[in-house]
Order: sequence, then structure tokens, then C-alpha cells
Amino acid sequence: MTGRGEDEGGPSIAIVGSGFSGLGLAIALKRAGFTALTVFERAGDLGGVWRENTYPGAACDAPSHLYSYSFEPKPDWSRRFAPQPEILDYLRRCAGKYGVTEHIRFGAEITGAVFDAEAGRWNIRTAGGEVHTADVLVSACGQLSDPSIPDIAGLDTFDGTVFHSARWDHAHDLAGRNVAVIGNGASAVQFVPRIAPKAAKLSVFQREPQWVGWKWDRRYPRARNRLNRRLPVLQRLSRLGVFLWFEALLNPMLISPRGRRILSAHVRALCRTTLWSVRDRALRERLTPGYELGCKRVLVSSDYYRTLNLPHVDVVTSAVAKVTSDGVVTADGETHPADTIILGTGFRSHDFVAPMRVEGLDGRDLNDAWRDGPRAYLGMAVAGFPNFFLMYGPNTNVGSGSVVHMLESQIAYIVQAARALRDPAVLYMDVREGVLTEFDERLQRRLDGTVWNAGGCDSWYLQEGRRNASNWPGSMLAYRRRTKALDRSDYRFVTRA
Ligand code: NAP
Repeated sequence: MTGRGEDEGGPSIAIVGSGFSGLGLAIALKRAGFTALTVFERAGDLGGVWRENTYPGAACDAPSHLYSYSFEPKPDWSRRFAPQPEILDYLRRCAGKYGVTEHIRFGAEITGAVFDAEAGRWNIRTAGGEVHTADVLVSACGQLSDPSIPDIAGLDTFDGTVFHSARWDHAHDLAGRNVAVIGNGASAVQFVPRIAPKAAKLSVFQREPQWVGWKWDRRYPRARNRLNRRLPVLQRLSRLGVFLWFEALLNPMLISPRGRRILSAHVRALCRTTLWSVRDRALRERLTPGYELGCKRVLVSSDYYRTLNLPHVDVVTSAVAKVTSDGVVTADGETHPADTIILGTGFRSHDFVAPMRVEGLDGRDLNDAWRDGPRAYLGMAVAGFPNFFLMYGPNTNVGSGSVVHMLESQIAYIVQAARALRDPAVLYMDVREGVLTEFDERLQRRLDGTVWNAGGCDSWYLQEGRRNASNWPGSMLAYRRRTKALDRSDYRFVTRA
């Protein structure tokens, strides 16, 4: 991976991660004529979160016509919200079709990368001790890849089986088990209805209730899929419809509390109607959020609440105090016997590049640069880390919508950066410190009043100190516009002597 010029398919580009972002970028780069590409993947297969999350009921919670690449529509999604195996299959097919699979090095975990300013190139180390070089380094590790294991006293003393929802233990049969589920987020509302019929007893430990709307899922009839194939415009219209619905949902989250209460009244009404499927009034009350709609991600499920009606299913709202060898003890002193604990406790969303150690100009460590919180220009570029880009980096998550849309904006931007680096005279490009600082300060000011920061809840969007390092404070369209053209004046271009 040494070429820079067009003839060699350069610059050479290393992408870490082969999920939606890494694959999408590799495909776009390849289509743009860049062939000196390597995708490093720590696992033995591609797919990122769609490879890792195999829990029962795992499925997309954004409609698949939008949650897919715009350049590769799939006319025959089996359902509106495709199940995990179908999404993984879609990604594998995309990688195969665009000739990207051969660029992936499986079983290659990147542990560190150091920028060599003289050569204008990254030296990249794998866990196996190999060293690779590349002109450009892209971290496509995502925000939701490493499971968050809660620090609960005694968890390691539990005699039964414990696993995280993103590392599902399929060998562990749940039939007749006494199961404790910790967490009630997007993953839990999908797997709880699937495992409840098997378990002898199931307790869901809820810290805060969630806003849950009805999931308008349905199987697509074959006739519709045939029509999609014959008239691709139909599928494009479906995609546009979903996009506009999400944009209409998202924008109220950004405005004043009064304005957003008025504009999101319809979604609140939908969630309240969904909650009516819980028969017990006292339970309904415990499931009613006290914070604003949208503060945490709004969940969708048509069977989660119904499952909570089952006589052997409990919702425990007293905080988890500790785990003993045979159960969970809550703050009210009650012991809840269990032989299986499933952690639906989410992901280490702010460890954007962990466990990779990234060292930029003058030995600057990315963890040090991010001591006060992760920040990146447009979520992609960090001053002092030349020729380095992040995908699904800081502040590029959407509270409502499809992250794939955001990723495609980033893909187009990074392809432009790669083009700029094709010039053999350019040693490296580095975003200007002032540009990043101004961008970040404006972004944080905009986030201050949003429902995510001020809606009265805790969520994975917020770091300690309540800094929001996750969300983009605008619409998907605004991000697309903002990233459409790479402004060369935002960067310091250092040329070869
Ligand atoms: P999550 O939304 O972060 O939910 C984690 C849950 O665990 C929350 O209920 C949280 O409680 C609870 N929790 C965390 N630590 C705890 C502790 N120490 N004690 C008790 N409870 C604890 O995680 P997730 O459900 O895995 O979803 C994460 C994100 O992944 C979603 O927001 C979504 O963006 C994505 N996702 C997408 C899909 C999809 O498209 N199909 C599916 C699943 C996930 P609190 O609410 O009180 O913090």
C-alpha cells in the first residue's frame, strides 16, 4: 500500500471495520477508482453490529427501504423492518457485488496507528504484531460495537449464566429458566417478547421507562416486491416517504420545549395508545416516562408491552443493588432469584476508536486530545491527526432516522478527501484547529436546548458532565448539505519539500 497517484489506484487507504460504514466507504472508493484499499476486520466475517447482534428478534427498527444504501436498493425486503439475518445477507451481497470482499483482511484487529509526518503516512499495527502502512486511515468502528458491561457488585460471583445481548449465548437453552433481564432499551424490547414464552420466569429490571411506539411492521407481499423490481420508482418513493416521516419527527426535538411538545403530540399519542395494551393500571404507571418524548431514542415494538401482561413476567423498578450467586438484589432489599442474567445494557458509545491507540502529529494521542470529550469536525476529522477520518464519529448519530443516510454523507466527503490526496505533491491534510473548535462550540450550543440534553433523562447520548458527544443537532438533510462539498480552506495542506 504505497502508491499515491491515480495510476497505482492510490492513495492507499486503510479502513478499520467492515460494517455498514466501512463497507459503504470501500465500495464508493472502489467505484471512484481507488484500488489500494484494505479493510481490517477483527472478526472472521463482515457486517459489524449486524454480525454481532444475533439475539432472538434482532431486526432493524428503521424501515429497510431507508436503512440500506441508496446506491443498492433491495426491492425484495421480506418485511418493512428486515430481520438481522436478512440485513447481514444484504451486506455480504453488496461486498461481493462491488468486489470489496477481496480487500478485507479478516481476523486483523488494529491495536494502534502512528502517523509518520515525514512520509505523510500511517503505520498501523495489528494485534498479531503485523505493521501495515497507508496514506489514509479511516476508523469505521461505529458508536455501538463494544458492549457495555455494567459495574454491578457481585456480577462475577453469579453461579448461573450471564451474557450480553450483543454476545448472545445460543448454546444456553432458556426453556424453563428463571431469567433476569437488565435493561429495557432498543435491544431488550426486541428480545424480551421472543424469550418470554420459553422462560419459566422472566424479570425485566427497568431503571427508567421508555417511550415505545407501535411498530408498523408487516411482511411485504410478493406482488409488491415484483412491482418494486419492475418500477424502481415505487421503492424510491417508499424510501422518500420514510425519510420525510423521520425528518418531521426529528425536527421537533431541536426546538423549544413548548414547540416540541406541540409538534410531537401525535407521536406521544401513538406511544400512549401503545401503552394501553398493558392491562394493569399500576404497571402502566410504572411504564410511563416522566421525561420528554425523544430524550432517549423512541422505541418501536408491538409486542413488548403485551409480553409484560404475562403472569410469569415481572417489571422490577427498584434499582439493581447487587448480584449474588443465585439472583439479583434490588435497592428495596428484595432478592429476585435467577439462573440466567441477560445484560441488555447497551454499548460503550463514547469509545469511538477503542481499543485502538491513535497517535497523530508530534506524538499526540487521540485519547488525550479527547480528554474533555470526543469532538471531530463534521464528526470526521480531528486537528493534529492528518489523513485520518472517522465514520459514525462524534455527533453524527440521529435521534430519529437512518444512520445509513448519515454514513452516505460521510462516504461522499471522505471520497473527496481521498481525491485531494491523490495529488502527489500533497504530503498530508490536517483540519485546522480553529475550524474544529468553532464547529464544536456552535454544535454544543445548538445541542444545549435540544430534547436530548434538556429533556430530563439520562441516555447513552450523554457523557459524564452531560456533554452530548453522540447526536447531530440537525436534520439528516442539513448534515448532507453541510458535508456535500469538502472546503479545502478548512484544512492545512502540507506539501512535499
Ligand atoms: P440502550 O438503549 O443503551 O439501553 C440500555 C438499557 O440498559 C437501558 O434501559 C439502561 O437503563 C439499562 N442499563 C444500562 N446500565 C444499567 C445498569 N447498570 N443497571 C441497570 N440498567 C442499566 O442499549 P440497547 O438497547 O442495546 O440499544 C442501544 C442502541 O443501539 C439503540 O439506541 C439503537 O440506536 C441501537 N439499536 C438499534 C437496533 C435496531 O435498529 N434494530 C436494535 C437495538 C439497538 P437507562 O435507560 O436507565 O439508562
